[in-house]
Amino acid sequence: MAGPCAVESERQVMETAEAVARAGACVLRGGAYKPRSSPYAFQGLGVAGLKMLKKARQATGLYIVTEAMSELEVDLIAEYADIMQIGSRSMENYALLEALGRCGRPVLLKRGMTATVKELMQSAQIIAQSGNPDIILCERGIRTFETVTRNTLDIAAVPVLKMVSRLPVIVDPSHAGGMRCLVSPLSRVAVAAGADGLIVEVHPCPEKALSDGKQSLNLSEFDELMRDLQPYLAIRAKPTCTDPELLVAGGRV
Ligand code: PEP
Ligand code: MN
Repeated sequence: MAGPCAVESERQVMETAEAVARAGACVLRGGAYKPRSSPYAFQGLGVAGLKMLKKARQATGLYIVTEAMSELEVDLIAEYADIMQIGSRSMENYALLEALGRCGRPVLLKRGMTATVKELMQSAQIIAQSGNPDIILCERGIRTFETVTRNTLDIAAVPVLKMVSRLPVIVDPSHAGGMRCLVSPLSRVAVAAGADGLIVEVHPCPEKALSDGKQSLNLSEFDELMRDLQPYLAIRAKPTCTDPELLVAGGRV
């Protein structure tokens, strides 16, 4: 999955969609509703952004993943999105989780930045119990005492989640590292650890991005990443578990 942090214009989305599709991505990401830590930061284009994503799907055949921040927007976003994203800041928004359980679309559930693996699994269970078993789990880095990186990629969470659940697990190297130069090394390690996919921020001109430009790849860097990852697919780990303690600690029910 690849695309801009936020949908900014039709041209930006189209250009990105065509490039990431050519490079081999199958899902276009892009936020139309943005949860920003600061109220002064760009908040997204809303419905206008959703319409641009729909056009990009028509032009490229890519599936669309985009975030829903509130249960009030779920029905509207489900008209445009193929996969509904729950952001890190919303992982414990229970009204939203329940609404997404009824939305009729697969859900991409991002790990809360201070959530344990067990808490992530509990949020997934709420979505499943509300009627939706189609959930993709996403490790996107957690908050630790380390400040060099934006978050700390918990790479062990990848095999652990694969062992304690039947759900696909993907990694977001962009929000984990917070820096363009870390996207490739974190992606490699994610694939080797057994991740089923990646979600990567890509922008035609990261220097001018309205959000998360520092951690976004440009179009040719994404193409290069996709090529670089090929050898890692061959050595991808297939995690299996024999330790009952891990199953309990990981929140398996
Ligand atoms: C995003 O995907 O742009 C985003 C806001 O991610 P997260 O919820 O993981 O911070
Ligand atoms: Mn972002």
